[in-house]
Amino acid sequence: MSDRYDFVVIGGGSGGIAAARRAAFYGARVLLLEAARIGGTCVNVGCVPKKVMWNTSRIAEMLQDSTEYGFDVANQGFDWAVIKRARDRYIQRLNEIYHRGLRESDVDKIEGHARFTDNRAVEVDGQRFRAHHILIATGGSPQVPDIPGAELGITSDGFFELEHRPQSMAIVGAGYIAAELAGVCNALGCKTTLVLRKEQLLRSFDATLRETLLEEMECTGISVLTRVDLHSTEQADNGRLLLRHRNGEAIGAFECVLWAIGRLPNTADLGLENTDIATDDAGFVITDGYQNSNVEGVYAVGDVSGRRALTPVAIAAGRALADRLFGGKPDATLDYENVPSVVFSHPPIGTVGLTEDEACEQFGRGMVKIYQSRFTNMYYSVLRRTAPTVVKLVTVGERERIVGCHIIGDFADEIIQGFAVAVKMGARKRDFDNTVAIHPTAAEELVTLR
Ligand SMILES: Cc1cc2nc3c(=O)[nH]c(=O)nc-3n(C[C@H](O)[C@H](O)[C@H](O)COP(=O)(O)OP(=O)(O)OC[C@H]3O[C@@H](n4cnc5c(N)ncnc54)[C@H](O)[C@@H]3O)c2cc1C
Repeated sequence: MSDRYDFVVIGGGSGGIAAARRAAFYGARVLLLEAARIGGTCVNVGCVPKKVMWNTSRIAEMLQDSTEYGFDVANQGFDWAVIKRARDRYIQRLNEIYHRGLRESDVDKIEGHARFTDNRAVEVDGQRFRAHHILIATGGSPQVPDIPGAELGITSDGFFELEHRPQSMAIVGAGYIAAELAGVCNALGCKTTLVLRKEQLLRSFDATLRETLLEEMECTGISVLTRVDLHSTEQADNGRLLLRHRNGEAIGAFECVLWAIGRLPNTADLGLENTDIATDDAGFVITDGYQNSNVEGVYAVGDVSGRRALTPVAIAAGRALADRLFGGKPDATLDYENVPSVVFSHPPIGTVGLTEDEACEQFGRGMVKIYQSRFTNMYYSVLRRTAPTVVKLVTVGERERIVGCHIIGDFADEIIQGFAVAVKMGARKRDFDNTVAIHPTAAEELVTLR
């Protein structure tokens, strides 16, 4: 049993690395335990490879548009394997950068699966470590439905292993990962079907965003099936996959089925049964506003804590925790309010704050005033292809404080960050009105709303 560390961090993903390096910066003796590839979900099977594929799919769209902009470009086809290799090389470089960063920060690292042996100790690779502070930053894994034949499908992890573009793909799920991968596949020429259990995509997003996106997905050729209650998946004689509805009806056939039905916390094999650490029914570690679990000296950050499952959230929570434990900042904590986020759909979504429905519920419908504009980005003015842009501000009270800012349209992914600062600072509609527009942009619509 070794107790030479002040801080043992389980999980070398976004949250774990951020907390470990920040703690080491303050002089803490830190050990990081990682079971798989350094960098975690975001780097290896999340944000990074997803964004590369989204960029690829945007190039496909621009190539299609280029002739109408006067370019004599012959599109000779698309080789998925080329971008897959380039993407893998990029991720490998990032892995190396993370290894180097940990070395330079004096964080010790052991590769192996860690398990708690009691409230205070963790075992990895036959070695046991005891520390005053233990952080659970083990993230999550894609969920697979509990239906016959589910193993025939892949998850987002498997998507990033595909060596060629499938001819056809069914994506089952209504969250942002389903929306993003459906858009990528469709734009890259894969016949794409989105399978929803209910009517809605992106249920937690503002209704204007989700309705606009669903309509646009159908316009661009994605087949959207709603109210599908799946019973099973099976393989036809030709190797193609069928989804079977509970009423017996078959859907398909598809070369590939992808489950994007949610993610589960990585706590099942963490030895929590040897401890008093409390989880909720889904297995997420229960934490308070300071990332404390119910056991003194044990904390959780990132996806495993069941809060906003986003990389910058995991990083910010990890750093705030290290600031509090080792940096002499006893009040350091992450404020989870007004966290902006983006869906890399086609077109992308950028959003921060309350949806219209949430604002009405919180403040009463009479207190809420909506400003909204729907238009076509000038980019499409010379094209046959078009795509909508909608910008929407949710304001409350006579002073019209902006509590929600929602954008769907090209560049929403980049536009929202700056507006998130304004919302976080408590900007009012008047502050937007007093800001001179930048012309011609899509973003200017947000400061010229009437
Ligand atoms: C397809 C996809 C796209 C995404 N896109 C975005 C995006 O665009 N923007 C965004 O902000 N977020 C995105 N996310 C979410 C983002 O990846 C996560 O929110 C983020 O990685 C969470 O960080 P984390 O530190 O909590 O966990 P992770 O990054 O998952 O790290 C957890 C680490 O713990 C390790 N581990 C687990 N159990 C053990 C154990 N017992 N012992 C040792 N090690 C263990 C795992 O191997 C893993 O490396 C995406 C996710 C997916 C799946």
